Amino acid sequence: MAAEIRLFPCLTDNFGYLIHDPDTKATASIDAPEAAPILKALEREGWTLTDILITHHHHDHVGGVAELKQKYGCRVVAPHDKSTKIANADLRVGQGDIVKVGALLGRVLETPGHTLDHVSYVFDNDKALFAADTLFSIGCGRVFEGDYPMMWGSLLKLRALPDDFKLYCGHEYTAANIKFALTIEPDNAALKARAEEVTRLRAANKPTIPTLLGEEKKANVFLRADEPSVAAGVRMKGRGAAEVFGELRERKNKS
Ligand code: ZN
Ligand code: FE
Repeated sequence: MAAEIRLFPCLTDNFGYLIHDPDTKATASIDAPEAAPILKALEREGWTLTDILITHHHHDHVGGVAELKQKYGCRVVAPHDKSTKIANADLRVGQGDIVKVGALLGRVLETPGHTLDHVSYVFDNDKALFAADTLFSIGCGRVFEGDYPMMWGSLLKLRALPDDFKLYCGHEYTAANIKFALTIEPDNAALKARAEEVTRLRAANKPTIPTLLGEEKKANVFLRADEPSVAAGVRMKGRGAAEVFGELRERKNKS
């Protein structure tokens, strides 16, 4: 049976996610920004937490792990990078590993750049991508630990996934991302359509996530650093995609 996915706000602007297998009743939390809203969501659904799949070591993604593990005795799956210390990890995973959540299969993609340990989880059968702080809707994560070519490479890995996959990202940053993206590609029709949609969603106090990867490929300037229109938007026509990507990221940092 198809996975059931729930999202809910955590902390200031993080998303909490549960993915549930109706056949085996297994339930995973993708990251654990804080325990309380995750516990509430589990209670509301009548689900028991069996796994936590961690994307990277930042506190706003692991802050709730200890409390949840204590309560449920759940398995904690964490990226394999040896340089970072993620406490309570039971299983370390890397590129190409398959993580089972009951009968659901999560495929691990290493997507470093934001941090060196960052991984994304792809549930191919459920057309779901959990990209945390690598790819946001109309944006991407800040490059804290890696460099621009590394982050661009990670975005290309995610861009290679099918258009009908849904993006579940780590933060509700979409409105601010759109404001910036429109300064680069003001004539991008898909971006303008997304801007209108997001204005409507935010006015109704609804999340802008999930979104379709196909739409992101058309509207997200950070996934489009190899498009001439984006290079032109930062006056870097003819330059390499990773360089254009770096310029985009630096401009966004200052915006
Ligand atoms: Zn982060
Ligand atoms: Fe984060």
